[in-house]
Amino acid sequence: MTDSGKAAFLAHLGEVLAGIEAEGLMKRERLIHGPQGAHVEVAGRRLLNLCANNYLGLADDPRLITAASAAMAGQGYGMASVRFICGTQNMHRALEARIAGFLGMEDSILFAACFDANGGLFEPLLGPEDAVISDSLNHASIIDGIRLCKAKRYRYANSDMADLEAQLQAARADGARFILVATDGVFSMDGYLAKLGEIRALADRYGAMVMVDDCHATGFMGPQGRGTPAHAGVSVDILTGTLGKALGGALGGYIAGPQPVIDLLRQRARPYLFSNALPPAVVAAGLAALDIVETADDLRAQLFENARYWRAGLEDAGFRLLPGEHPIVPVMLGDAVLAQNMASALYDRGVYVAGFFFPVVPKGQARIRTQMNARLTRDDLDFALDAFRAAGKAVGALA
Ligand SMILES: *Cc1c(COP(=O)(O)O)cnc(C)c1O
Repeated sequence: MTDSGKAAFLAHLGEVLAGIEAEGLMKRERLIHGPQGAHVEVAGRRLLNLCANNYLGLADDPRLITAASAAMAGQGYGMASVRFICGTQNMHRALEARIAGFLGMEDSILFAACFDANGGLFEPLLGPEDAVISDSLNHASIIDGIRLCKAKRYRYANSDMADLEAQLQAARADGARFILVATDGVFSMDGYLAKLGEIRALADRYGAMVMVDDCHATGFMGPQGRGTPAHAGVSVDILTGTLGKALGGALGGYIAGPQPVIDLLRQRARPYLFSNALPPAVVAAGLAALDIVETADDLRAQLFENARYWRAGLEDAGFRLLPGEHPIVPVMLGDAVLAQNMASALYDRGVYVAGFFFPVVPKGQARIRTQMNARLTRDDLDFALDAFRAAGKAVGALA
């Protein structure tokens, strides 16, 4: 590129950024000192944290830290290899077997992140003769993964079962060989659960398979935290998930499913073949997280009790919530600027939350997404409710 070409390009980017700023859509990152937890330190202040995916509070759990340290001491810091060259330790296979067992699947395969798992899932499994039917609110990584595959694409309105059936009929009418329905287990902007019972029944009626991304459920939804399929009492064909949320919050993703699916992904999934193996510390802590999760009924009970108390308190205060049972509790504000003002008014009052607005949610549906975790106490929640009432009045979100 010539110097003037580059200058024009950079000037163009500057205009795009100015446009984002002018619309009130600029995201700014706050710097946290110290570990992720129920409280975090930001700019020398201790804040109550209501926006982490740290559902069970394991992100700074001493048992995970011990497991990670021991693995680093014994198995080293990094793998310096993709899995198939020289990047597979016994622990990687142990974690894959453990995840599969936990989820009731034949096997699983690890990725650097669930974003990669979803990005690599579809292309090796489905060809141009096949169909993939996707919920309109699916996570960006599913959308991208589907874009990368050659199957014919169909989309249904979020959780609209009549539309899903219409798309199944369309795929059949178009002569699809195999059909895969893909959905988030939990739609993370709303905290809504996918209607897995109905999806399974419809898929069965049309001879389709079901894939669920359970990032916002594994570890705490359903018996033993086995996720939304267990919660709904159905089995699905393929599950994807993350180690980056309830299961310790570091990073790492996986796909679990039937043996031939996992075997073929190990041969063909591009983010698996062309990206580094997870480090030993993360793998060992993932195993430790599953040990904890399998017996963490107390943490799960506390999590859902916190969610119930939090919802009731916000509703009493006069906020508009989206209904539900999930520990994601969105406080609906509508306007992006109002959501940002509310987040900063809460910050001033010691509560750390994030405003969500376009393009993360549709225009006009800006919100503060709060998330409960098992480590929050009743005092914490009462403190947060006081802050929400005061901030809501200060910014005009409450009368
Ligand atoms: C967080 C999330 C992902 C991405 O997971 P990472 O492991 O952080 O890449 C994918 N899908 C859904 C539904 C998520 O919520």
